[in-house]
Amino acid sequence: MEAKTIKKIGVLTSGGDAPGMNAAIRAVVRAGFYYNLEMYGIYRGYEGMIQNDIKKLDSKNITHVLERGGTFLKSARSEDFRTAEGRKKAYNNLQNHGIDALVVIGGDGSLTGAHLFYQEYGIPSIGLPGTIDNDLSGTDSTIGFDTACNTAIEAIDKIRDTATSHDRLFFVEVMGRDAGFIAINAGIGSAAAAILIPENKTPIENLVDKLKSRSKAMKTSNIVIVAEGGKSGSAQEIADKVKKFLPYYDIKVTILGHLQRGGAPTSFDRLLASKLGVAAVEGLMQGKYDVMAGMINNKVVFTPIVKAIVDDKAVDEEDLRVANILST
Ligand code: ATP
Repeated sequence: MEAKTIKKIGVLTSGGDAPGMNAAIRAVVRAGFYYNLEMYGIYRGYEGMIQNDIKKLDSKNITHVLERGGTFLKSARSEDFRTAEGRKKAYNNLQNHGIDALVVIGGDGSLTGAHLFYQEYGIPSIGLPGTIDNDLSGTDSTIGFDTACNTAIEAIDKIRDTATSHDRLFFVEVMGRDAGFIAINAGIGSAAAAILIPENKTPIENLVDKLKSRSKAMKTSNIVIVAEGGKSGSAQEIADKVKKFLPYYDIKVTILGHLQRGGAPTSFDRLLASKLGVAAVEGLMQGKYDVMAGMINNKVVFTPIVKAIVDDKAVDEEDLRVANILST
């Protein structure tokens, strides 16, 4: 694609918030200033684009945001942006500000919206993978995933202390509605007895057998990690079923929930967000449109958004094998 001359870039964060979004915004804006571009913050994602909540950014806006969790541009889900009428309003607002390119930071839904918008209006746009779920193809890791895993592990370590003190069996529910990446990572990192992920259905009998064999091996406390929305049920449902087979066990359930979205980004996420933020601006200047900037084997890779959102990112079978060996 022949590169259009770009003067004003709008940046937004959309969908579920993720630690490192601030670092990504800051990198996009700093890179824009480096190339003498005007930079605009579009607040509350696509909703703010429709409601004209758009402000020119200066360097003060991005001071001391890199290290903060959340997103200072705020995030939202917008039903209106799913309608042609809503997108038309959004386009008119961008036109009025003279914004001629977009950087959209979000998950698969947000990037789907960016793709549709590009198809309809042809405004050069690039997506950045900003989601704790790590469920986008075209990048080894999404911005926020590493921090979410660290947060989950830190919480599970604390649960481990109380589980050990009382010989309890804990079911800990982590985020990841359709993807088991956080569950696998946190499960291996916290020596879980078992990891239940949405991609696989684990028969309850198998789980019970595993817990029984561990108790024979004198493992008196156990932690089972359950990804929310898995085929086997919620952590509470699984705990209730297991209780029938192991009535002598003191079973507890903890749902980590939104805790996993917060907190200062790890060094990994700061670096990833910073590199991808610069890549987004440079990509736009080079005429790379309707793509997502990701990092594969430590190199920036631009993947068509349609591929990044459609290709199912499979969990690593090797990770599952390792988890199984270490929990037997
Ligand atoms: P996460 O998975 O981390 O929650 P996400 O970006 O996938 O993030 P979604 O709620 O799926 O979150 O999408 C965010 C927003 O993107 C939606 O509220 C909507 O405004 C827009 N969007 C999603 N899908 C579409 C679509 N098919 N057409 C137009 N806009 C869409």
